[in-house]
Amino acid sequence: MDSAEILVTVGGLALIAFTLWFFFGQHNEAVTTGTTADALYSCPMHPWITSPDPAAICSVCGMKLTQND
Ligand SMILES: [Zn+2]
Repeated sequence: MDSAEILVTVGGLALIAFTLWFFFGQHNEAVTTGTTADALYSCPMHPWITSPDPAAICSVCGMKLTQND
């Protein structure tokens, strides 16, 4: 193994380590803010339409958003 291969191997491991750190860092952040997710409302037909406002309506179909479990 020459120095170039070592550099690529170390670089690859560093990239993987950074990716894992980034992923778990984001995950921990989501857990920390998870308490406020209890009050998140979403459209039954379009679950990606969400709002913390209980009076909000879906921007796609106009249905009243319902609370998630
Ligand atoms: Zn909708």
